[in-house]
Amino acid sequence: MLKMEDIEFSYGENRVFEKLNLEIQKGDFLMLLGKNGSGKSTLLKLIFGIEKKKSGKIYFNGKDLDEDIYYGRERMALVFQNPDEQIVSHKVESELAFAMENYGIPRDEMRKRIDNALEITGLSHKKNAEIQTLSGGEKQRLCIASAMVMEPEILILDEPTSMLDSKNRLKIMEILAEINRLGTAVVIVSHHLKELEHCRKVISLEKGEIIFRGNKIEFIKDLLIQKEKYALSLPTSFQLARELYQNYSIDITDEIFNLEKAGEKIWDSL
Ligand code: ADP
Repeated sequence: MLKMEDIEFSYGENRVFEKLNLEIQKGDFLMLLGKNGSGKSTLLKLIFGIEKKKSGKIYFNGKDLDEDIYYGRERMALVFQNPDEQIVSHKVESELAFAMENYGIPRDEMRKRIDNALEITGLSHKKNAEIQTLSGGEKQRLCIASAMVMEPEILILDEPTSMLDSKNRLKIMEILAEINRLGTAVVIVSHHLKELEHCRKVISLEKGEIIFRGNKIEFIKDLLIQKEKYALSLPTSFQLARELYQNYSIDITDEIFNLEKAGEKIWDSL
């Protein structure tokens, strides 16, 4: 779907990417990890053509985006950290219509897409609400709905949960999992390892280089063995899992996201 080949990019003298290669495939639910300054935002800007690469190629469905940057932009949607910086309207329905208005989408089709997007984000009952009455989590869900009315092939979210509490973070991740299940590739930049539960793949960046790419469980194993390599704080369930993995040779599975199950495994092994 999206393929970046040998991307080189610098801000003046500061080289961020030397030969970056990356692929986003149909159906992916990918988490992009990395310390501050590792290049995550720059990567997203390059994908959307907001920054211009020095060399290398970016293809979307085989099409070279140097020839038509809009081909990619029309097939991807971006959601940022702070909903207040993205929302332009006062009412929920008009916010969603606004996203589509410039594209000449017929009224009936717009209505259908609005209803679908509100349903998937759990906001159907807020259709006629004033946006200022929405909670932070609801506003972020509205931003996801605004992205989804454009029916993107890839939905990219830059730290969408960092301003939310754990309950709202979980809700957002469940919505993204459903969006992914229905066929949209999802890429999320996040620092919250708990959110890996809903993802399938991981790419970890360090100073512009990919230090891990692959399956989530393989990533977790690598993280538990080489915690220093990633400089990420481990949730409690991951710390328990490290005990299991290193001291009791118990394999890592999706169960490590469940504190109770992780505890049970330790208990059983004793
Ligand atoms: P991340 O999103 O992972 O925090 P960034 O992509 O923002 O990383 O930054 C990657 C590198 O590029 C860092 O060294 C950062 O200081 C530098 N950088 C980011 N934006 C700019 C900019 N507008 N001008 C100059 N340097 C920048």
